[in-house]
Amino acid sequence: MLLPVHPQPRQGELLSSWMVRLAFSNVFALHTFYFSLLEYKAPIWNRDIDRHPPPALLEVLKNHTQQSELAIQSMTLSYYEGMLFETLPVCGDAIWLLPAGIYHRTRRREGMQFCPLCLQSDSEPFYRRAWRLAFCTVCREHSCLMLQHCPYCESPVAFHRHGMGWLKSPAPFSIRLCHHCGFDLGMAKPAQVSWPDAQSRELMCDMLNMLEGNAWSGGPLALCSSLSFFNGLRILLGAIGGRNGKRVRAALCERLGLSFDIEPNRDFEYQSTITRFNLLTTGLWLISDWPSRFLEVFQGEGFTRSRFSDNLHIHPYWLQLQVARHLDTRPYLPSYEEVVAAANYLFVNNIAVTTDSLGGLMGIKRDVARRAVVLWKANYGPSL
Ligand SMILES: [Zn+2]
Ligand SMILES: [Zn+2]
Repeated sequence: MLLPVHPQPRQGELLSSWMVRLAFSNVFALHTFYFSLLEYKAPIWNRDIDRHPPPALLEVLKNHTQQSELAIQSMTLSYYEGMLFETLPVCGDAIWLLPAGIYHRTRRREGMQFCPLCLQSDSEPFYRRAWRLAFCTVCREHSCLMLQHCPYCESPVAFHRHGMGWLKSPAPFSIRLCHHCGFDLGMAKPAQVSWPDAQSRELMCDMLNMLEGNAWSGGPLALCSSLSFFNGLRILLGAIGGRNGKRVRAALCERLGLSFDIEPNRDFEYQSTITRFNLLTTGLWLISDWPSRFLEVFQGEGFTRSRFSDNLHIHPYWLQLQVARHLDTRPYLPSYEEVVAAANYLFVNNIAVTTDSLGGLMGIKRDVARRAVVLWKANYGPSL
């Protein structure tokens, strides 16, 4: 059965937004529409349907709307696989994805952002796929800060809830309203943002443009792979915003005239929009003149390799190289072969193999040199 009214998905629309609009355009509440009319009997709204919707649901949608499977699939968050992350996990936290805090049919966390000016100017209001992403802190169209909850009652956005409970036949326009207090989210006051420099702003534009299907620009690092860029950026943001980043944050605040209101022990994705925006601007500012600014701030504040991560080997090369080369303060530990070669060189040149001579030759610290001398004497040195 083809639905009498089947609104086309809008450019960049999120699956759940379109699914709710489908029901509302046909003047049905959600349960009646999906359970009774489309005969999809499994629960829908007590899970994050935009992550990995069941194939049976996609099949039902396809059959009733004549949209291709690819078109429907591309409305889900797995659209960003290979772009922002390798694979999107089925459940649990995922990098770059705002946690929704799903509890039955409610949303305990602010996982759905919105731009009031976009909602206001839409002929038919709809929610964008990119609004679920943690780095999408400013609107691509209007350059204002995204909002994360109703400004009147501070409820998280949960537009699907208009189709539940007492309201049996909600109008499509209702998804523009706060489900809790009815406030028109399209009338919320937008906040403007300021950027540390034109390059950082440009880089953010490139990132947002890529989300809408434009080719990845490569950014200032000229990286062919957006995955490498986003992985490195996320690690950088984790370091700045993490528990070891206090001094780095203070230096960046002073340098860029920002302030951070970090929620402690929480990942980037759990921070407020303005905090995420400020973290991002510092990250993008560092990358815009890589690696000079990064080394100036991180080295200057004594941020060492060990504070960065225990898993340096999985970092993208462009970041790994700078961290390993410039932030590694561990003493150099020569290999056994290197010690033997250096000590033998001294020995055959009639120079006594001592802590000073070996340490000086190898450029190693005194305690390391002392151990090396003992090791060499035990195995190769003249019998005393
Ligand atoms: Zn907008
Ligand atoms: Zn409200």
